[in-house]
Amino acid sequence: MDEAIRFLLALQDYDMRLRELMQNRSHIPQNIAALDEDIEASNRKIIQEKNAIQNAKLETQKLEKDFKSSEEMIAAGKYKLAFTKNSREYEILAKTIADEERKVAQWEELLLERMLENDSRQSEFSHLQEAANGEIQRLQNEKERQRQLSTHLEENIAELNRKIAAMRGIIQENHGRWLRHYDETKRAIRKMPCIVFVKNNQYCGGCNLKLSGNISAPDPAFPFIICESCARLISIAPALEVAAEASGEGEGDIN
Ligand SMILES: [Zn+2]
Repeated sequence: MDEAIRFLLALQDYDMRLRELMQNRSHIPQNIAALDEDIEASNRKIIQEKNAIQNAKLETQKLEKDFKSSEEMIAAGKYKLAFTKNSREYEILAKTIADEERKVAQWEELLLERMLENDSRQSEFSHLQEAANGEIQRLQNEKERQRQLSTHLEENIAELNRKIAAMRGIIQENHGRWLRHYDETKRAIRKMPCIVFVKNNQYCGGCNLKLSGNISAPDPAFPFIICESCARLISIAPALEVAAEASGEGEGDIN
């Protein structure tokens, strides 16, 4: 009978491990989607900065064009001034030239500033691009790692399912009733394990509540009592060591 309990406990360990692996696997699609979003954001950042630099360059070119046509206007005005005899006309033209010269002086400063700004932005861009590409590469690697992890989990899940089927077959042979109770309890309770032992001769090993009455199984063919508080199956056999193979180390948290 001890051996049968051992098998049931091994099954429980397999089931708990399976549950953990399935949970880990269920996170992978979200993880990959989040990585895709990050890759997209990095790409967007590069494109946005590229466009912004392009726009700034176009604006600077326009300013340069205005600046040159102003300069030409000043040169033409000065030439015309030399031939102007009428003092009223002369005054007006001279004022126009002076205004234009003030404007050109301001623009010249602004133009220089913009050109320097564009140059430094352009050289910073290559650093930004390099950093973003590095980040994208890192994210791609992580995506690949998640895919490999998924394959690895699939394999482990398949292997566990095979072990579970074999173990259930063994238990079913002589202790079908135990198996049914185990399955029902597993369905009913939220937190595994669903088979526990009596703790300190009087407490439920699952929920720690004191057990009422005499702790003995009513049926020698079914050496369990059901906890009134948490509904777990409490084995009244002395606590057994579970086969080392079954007490899985788990696959670690993938997040
Ligand atoms: Zn309990």
